[in-house]
Amino acid sequence: MPPDSKHVLIVTHDVDWPLNGPGAQHVLARRGRFPPEVINQVVEKGFNPYNGIAKVMEIEEQFGIKSTFLFRPKYDNGCEVNEYKLTMRTLLADGYEVGLHANDTSTLEQVILEKRMVEQAAGAQIFGCRIHYLKVLESTFINLTQAGFKYDSSLMFDRKNVDPKNTGHLVKDGLVVFPITFMDAFLFTYTGLNEETVIPYIIKNIDELYAAGAQILTLLWHDNSVLMRGGRAYGELIKQLAAKSGITFLKGIEAYQLVSKASSEQT
Ligand SMILES: [Zn+2]
Repeated sequence: MPPDSKHVLIVTHDVDWPLNGPGAQHVLARRGRFPPEVINQVVEKGFNPYNGIAKVMEIEEQFGIKSTFLFRPKYDNGCEVNEYKLTMRTLLADGYEVGLHANDTSTLEQVILEKRMVEQAAGAQIFGCRIHYLKVLESTFINLTQAGFKYDSSLMFDRKNVDPKNTGHLVKDGLVVFPITFMDAFLFTYTGLNEETVIPYIIKNIDELYAAGAQILTLLWHDNSVLMRGGRAYGELIKQLAAKSGITFLKGIEAYQLVSKASSEQT
C-alpha cells in the first residue's frame, strides 16, 4: 500500500446468505432476476447463484485487487458461519480480509459471541465489522470497540444520493468508521439505476468526490448480486475503475492502518 494514497477506494462485500443460498425453489420463483444461463445451472445442477464469492475473487484477481468479505455468524435459516470455513480460509490465504457482518450489536456479550464465531471459522483474528441492514444502535460503536474491533462500516447518511458525508472516516467511541459511499442494492432501488446506468453514475461521482477533496470512498457490492441482472455489472465496473489512474484499492483493515498512521503523524 503506497503511504501517499490520496484516492482510496475500500472494496467490501457483505455475505448475507448461507453457503447453500435460499434453495432452488426461492431462486426459481425469482427467475427474472437472473440471466437464462444461470437459471439453467440452477435447474440442471442445483447451482446456488446467491454465492458470488468465487466470481468476485475471479473479477478482482485480474486487477490485483484484494477486498474485504464480511460474514454473518448465523444466517436466517439457522445455518452458522462455520459452513464457510473453507471459503474464509481460502480468502485469507489469497490475501483478502474477512470480517463480521453483525446480526445484533445491542450488547457487548452478543458482539463478542458473534466475533468469536467468525474468528473460529476463519481461524484468524478479525478487525472489521458492518451490521446487517446497517442497523446501528446507540451502543453499537462502544460495544464494537470493547470487543476489540478496529473499524466499522455501517453508517450511510443518505441512502439515495451520493453525499460527501459518506466519504472519509469518523471516529465514534474509539472506533474508526468508514461510511458507505456506494451500495449496490440502494443504487438499484432508492437511486433508481439499472445495469446500464450504474457504471457511468459511479465513475462520474467518484471523479467528482475525489476532485472535491474526498480521499477515502467505500464501495459495498453484495456477493449475492454479482450473478444477478444489475449486480452483474460489477465485473465491468471494476474493470473501468482499475483502468483509471490514481485509485488505490484497499481492504478495510488497510484503510484503517492508513488513517491511524496519518493521525499518529499529526500528533
Ligand atoms: Zn447484510
